[in-house]
Amino acid sequence: MAIAPDDAALAAALIGRQRRALAKAITLVESTRPDHRLRAQALLDHLLPHTGKALRIGISGVPGVGKSTFIESFGMHLLEQGLRLAVLAVDPSSPLTGGSILGDKTRMERLSHQEAAYIRPSPARGALGGVGHQSREAMLVCEAAGFDVVIVETVGVGQSETAVAGMCDVFLLLQLPNAGDELQGIKKGILELADIIVYNKADLDPRAAAVAAGQLKAALHMLRPASPHWQVPVLQASASTGAGIADVWAALQRHKAAMQQSGDFEARRRHQAQAWIWHIIEAGLQERFRSDDAIRQQLPQALQQAADGETSPATLAAQLLDTFFDHRNFRK
Ligand code: GDP
Repeated sequence: MAIAPDDAALAAALIGRQRRALAKAITLVESTRPDHRLRAQALLDHLLPHTGKALRIGISGVPGVGKSTFIESFGMHLLEQGLRLAVLAVDPSSPLTGGSILGDKTRMERLSHQEAAYIRPSPARGALGGVGHQSREAMLVCEAAGFDVVIVETVGVGQSETAVAGMCDVFLLLQLPNAGDELQGIKKGILELADIIVYNKADLDPRAAAVAAGQLKAALHMLRPASPHWQVPVLQASASTGAGIADVWAALQRHKAAMQQSGDFEARRRHQAQAWIWHIIEAGLQERFRSDDAIRQQLPQALQQAADGETSPATLAAQLLDTFFDHRNFRK
């Protein structure tokens, strides 16, 4: 679809780093209105040549681990080096609670007043394509607006981590120095996603943090490394005092250099772009399926029958798929 003149002007303003254009463009890509979706697609196609230059960092950790404090401290460190930073949030809590685990209002006070930083609150719910859809597109918009680093923040509850790891170049996991955390992380499978692990709040009990980091390092040796070119470092930091923050940035740069040298950096992005196509296709098919009239009529009964054990789920699913395809005249 060709881009509308107004949106082309919006794109130009965005590339020219105008803040209002940035907010407006992100609002457009976050919208679920069908006409906005079409405009957003045209806008993103238009912006595509201007994307891809930022380092995409995913950051996760349980509520209270210190994510916003860390991003504030880390972000100021980046700004001091002349870099521009955008922060986006993927907040998985909202569909259930209507609220936000990440809590947008008072976070990252210092950073949010900086000209070189942009902090986007979590998008409104009802996303097409599930967790993280809008954030991926918002990330591309930020790249077109010339940000050097984009942080995508999420909270440690599983699904959102996978989504965020699937859109970033590097995934950073914040941990608390309490015994047992590392085992919990292994169970949840989140550790496997991490490229860099940081024990935050090391100022509270430096010895406990050192012990926890040592134990986790040992445990990591038992996992198969995600990349043969990278050994996951386990660092210690204090988001409050700023200790160790520069080391985290150094580790991120080492990671990027190792990935670029081995070709994994480019390969990861290519793989992510391909996986994204499938993600959108699957979401689109599911949406069509669920909104189909014939399916809407049959689905409640089929679900009931499956729950009652009257008919096998496989048979019911096959019947529903047949209904959908017949109804859509796909089988002629
Ligand atoms: P989030 O829920 O992961 O975003 O965590 P917050 O950044 O809101 O931090 C939760 C609490 O831990 C706040 O009271 C912070 O001030 C505190 N906190 C965060 N990082 C540190 C740290 O490195 N040291 C100490 N002592 N407190 C911290």
